[in-house]
Formats: sequence, structure tokens, C-alpha cells
Amino acid sequence: MEREEIKEIIARKNVNFFRLQFVDIFGFMKNISFPLSQIEKALDGKIMFDGSSIEGFVRINESDMYLKPDFNTFALLPWRDKYGSAAARIICDVHNADESPFIGCPRQNLKRVLAEAREKGYTMNVGTECEFFLFKQDANGQATTITDDVASYFDTDPADAGTDCRRKIIQTLEAMGFEIEASHHEVAIGQHEINFKYANALTAADNTVTFKWVVRTIAAEFGLHATFMPKPVFGISGSGMHTNQSLFTLDGKNAFFDADAGLQLSEVAMKYIAGLCKHARSFCAVTNPLVNSYKRLVSGYEAPVYIAWSASNRSVLVRIPASRGMSTRTEVRNPDPACNPYLAFAAMLAAGLDGIENNLPTPEQSTADLYEMNEEERLAAGIAILPVDLHEALECLKASQVMKKALGPHIFDKYLEGKEREWDEYRTAVTDWEIKSYLCKY
Ligand code: ADP
Ligand code: GLU
Ligand code: MG
Ligand code: MG
Repeated sequence: MEREEIKEIIARKNVNFFRLQFVDIFGFMKNISFPLSQIEKALDGKIMFDGSSIEGFVRINESDMYLKPDFNTFALLPWRDKYGSAAARIICDVHNADESPFIGCPRQNLKRVLAEAREKGYTMNVGTECEFFLFKQDANGQATTITDDVASYFDTDPADAGTDCRRKIIQTLEAMGFEIEASHHEVAIGQHEINFKYANALTAADNTVTFKWVVRTIAAEFGLHATFMPKPVFGISGSGMHTNQSLFTLDGKNAFFDADAGLQLSEVAMKYIAGLCKHARSFCAVTNPLVNSYKRLVSGYEAPVYIAWSASNRSVLVRIPASRGMSTRTEVRNPDPACNPYLAFAAMLAAGLDGIENNLPTPEQSTADLYEMNEEERLAAGIAILPVDLHEALECLKASQVMKKALGPHIFDKYLEGKEREWDEYRTAVTDWEIKSYLCKY
């Protein structure tokens, strides 16, 4: 989008407020709001903010940072069209005070890794499937884990109490330029999914953070709390963020498709799968960033536990959906929607590219239901498991040179620092489970 086009929309739609947005290294969307009088300065990339207040960014003595808007991310905010004026947002890259790109900005880091892929002849396309729960708020407006919704997979209304809220979310996203492909009730009570069309990885990451923001905002209008927490309720399905990914060649062909190859998957696709499998344990701390993420990655709930790939079954880490041609893709099933998509895409792309560059061997396709295999059978098949908790995942991340390169040294260090603190807080906390299990017994 061009500057003049943005100004034309602002005038035509009566936009009086706009927000500059960016994400921190943990994937939280941040924004600063401005009245229209500041628009020229903002579009010029001359707005500064205090980076030292953003976790993982910079120290206090180097705190002035610039927000450089990416005009392509301009979007109206339909729910803010009130009191006679409209509002819009633009997503920004963060730059240092000397105007150089800030290496701690996850969006610019993804751009860097995408530029490396382009040098090798590829662009990356991504489509995320973010599952979420809609829970009731209590009388004080606080989030609960309670839902009136009694529906299950693909159920219809009236059992699916989220139908109206989902419709409003979809209408809002469409007004912001999303192409929505489908929506449905998920397996667990109160759980939903809305699918939007894939895009190049940068736009897909922008869309994913925007999607989560819109879902939470519209749910709140319905008096509901939307959560992307990976496993909010024990004993029922958790929420995943299946990340469909493919490489295209620079002339726009799907590099994963080969009509003459076995399964019609190209050599590039096979090597990409090999890289994903080899580095899954290392990128897990990025794609599954919370203590709680690992409570989802357990058998029996369609979430992966074992590092395997398959064109047929859904218990694996990397599934190859049946579509071919331009839709040929890998569906990586372990990521969850609490991850920072900019970092997660950079990490998975780096893993896949490593497979291509180093001609890594692709493991045998796994056709068995992995949840049904016993340990002996699994070991005989050479199938490894994902980390069982955040601590193990962080140790794997720390040891990976491929991931250090994918995240860049600043993000790598700050991410580990923040997440190790999070693990330590959890490790030393006394949980409800411990009180329930031990207090009376001992
Ligand atoms: P499933 O139900 O099979 O898990 P969905 O149909 O819910 O998958 O979602 C598929 C996602 O994959 C959508 O976001 C879609 O746009 C995306 N997609 C389709 N083709 C490609 C491709 N070539 N590369 C990346 N993503 C793709
Ligand atoms: N909710 C499942 C998960 O945690 C995925 C269900 C599905 O296949 O859509 O990954
Ligand atoms: Mg789903
Ligand atoms: Mg899926």
C-alpha cells in the first residue's frame, strides 16, 4: 500500500485515531495511539518510544527507539468506529536511535531469515490454525474456565453457543482484509477454530497476532473471555496452532510439489521435513513457549508427542495434508497459539532450510497410530519424543547453533533469560495439585 492510498482511506473513512503497533520478543502486541495530527510524522517513521520499558528490548541508557511503519499492514479497526470517528493501525519495525534496524525486533528478525531463504531461491508461505476457548466472565468481569457451550467437533447451534461471537469475529476480520476460509466448533466444549488464508510468512505472522487481538476483543464485547492458553482445562483437548508451511520458488511455483515423485512430494519437501524432524526438540521452546504448553503435548488429544511425519495420520508432528499442486504443504502440529509467530516461523524455516542445505536424511514415514505404540516399538522405529517440559525444551534450545542463528544473538539470549525465569518461578511454586495430593497425607 502507498502512502497516498493510506491518506485517501483516512480521509474517506473519517479516521481520527491511529495506532502504531509492534511485538516484543515474547509475542505480545504493543501499541501507541495517536490523533490524526501526528499522521505525517508517523508515516515518516519519526515517532520515538522508550524501548527500555519493553521486556527483552534494551537497557535504560539506550532507550530511545523509532517505530518505522510497514504501510502494507494498514488496517481499519472496525470495533473502534464510534463517537463519529474511525480508527486504524499500522504494524511497525523497531529501529535504533541511529535509525539502524534493531536486532531485538522479532519482525525484523523474521525478515532477515526470510531474506536468507530468498538468497537460496525460496519464499515461505504460512497458514496458521489458531484454536481458542471462549469462557464466561464472572460478575466482576474476570476470566473463568466455565462455558455454557456443550458442543463438540463440527457441532451445530444451539449446542455451539459461540456461533454468534464467531460470526462477529469473522465479519470484523473480513472488514480488516482477512480472507476467511472456514470456521467450526472444535473437539472440546467451548473450543473454536477460524481459518484464514495463508500468506507469505511475514504477513502470516502479522495476521496471526492481529487475529488473536481481534478474537479477544470481540469476545469481550460478548461478555466472554477468549484464551489462547494451550491447555486451560485438564482432561480435555488443548489449543494448538498448526502451522501449515511451504516453500515457493522465486517464480511462484510450490517447491514442495513434484507430480512425478513418491507421494508427489519433491526432494525439497522431503529435506524440509528432515530438517523439521531433526530440530523439533530445539525449536519447541519457541513454538511451545509456556510451562503450560507441555501439558497439551500429551497422548490422546490430537496433539503431537512423538517426532515423526506422515501423509495419513494426525498423531504425528508433521502431517502432509492430502492437497497437492499449490496447496502442497507440511502441517507442523506442535506449535501452540501462545508462541511468538515471528520467532516460531523463523525457527521452523531455519530448521527446514538446514535439512535442504545439509541434505539431511528423512526418517521413514510413520503410518501407525503413535499413541498406540509401546516404548519398545517406538525405539525400534527410531522415533524420538518432544521435550516433556519447558525446562527440557530450553536446554535443547540453548544447545542449538541453528536456533541461535535463526533468532539472532540478542533475541536468543533475552528469550532464554526470560523463559528460564518463568521456569524457575513455576519450579518453586507450590501448586494446587501438591496441596490436594500431599497436605493431608503427610
Ligand atoms: P486441516 O483442517 O487440514 O488441519 P485447515 O483447512 O484448517 O487444515 O487449514 C489449512 C491452512 O493451510 C489454511 O490456513 C490454508 O490457507 C493453508 N494453506 C493452504 N495451502 C498452503 C500452502 N501452500 N502453504 C502454506 N499454507 C497453506
Ligand atoms: N486441539 C488439537 C491440538 O491440540 C488439534 C485438533 C485438530 O486436529 O484440529 O493440537
Ligand atoms: Mg483444529
Ligand atoms: Mg490442522
